[in-house]
Amino acid sequence: MVDAVIRKTQVALGMSSYSFVKFCPRCGSPVEYKEKFGVVRPVCPQCNYIHFQDPKVAAAVLIEEDSRVLLVQRANEPFRGLWTLPAGFVNGGEDPAEAAARECLEETGLTVQIKQVYDVISGREHERGADFIIVYVAEVLSGTMAPADDADAVEWFERNNLPPLAFKATQKVLIA
Ligand SMILES: [Zn+2]
Repeated sequence: MVDAVIRKTQVALGMSSYSFVKFCPRCGSPVEYKEKFGVVRPVCPQCNYIHFQDPKVAAAVLIEEDSRVLLVQRANEPFRGLWTLPAGFVNGGEDPAEAAARECLEETGLTVQIKQVYDVISGREHERGADFIIVYVAEVLSGTMAPADDADAVEWFERNNLPPLAFKATQKVLIA
């Protein structure tokens, strides 16, 4: 019964089983699931801690030169081998624009200047994915292209001759 309620809540929140909280992160007591602020959430009966499921946020860079766009080939599942914008998760307390530039440097070896927000795209695409992604327009300042971290390769592609793309968000940015 409780499992059914939890499952229903997870579905309503777009959550998946990885986000199950069984113990209070503050005092270690087993949590109970209770309605708090309109949603069934993990609540600690000992210290009254309420666990809020925060969204996971990613940041990406759209870098274009002439008619070409810079893409990275994913080194990891899901969509390993497919291509996407340089991107990654925003750390707690981090400026998302700085996160986008940091991830780009980590994956491509290029230092970029963030120009402006291009789009904000919501919708988690897989269990370990982001709930929304902030896409920035960026320009290359310096560096030598070298794939690393989450990227197996980094290449420029003509906009009218793109490789297989990894995510719906990437497709939305580059095709839609
Ligand atoms: Zn507690």
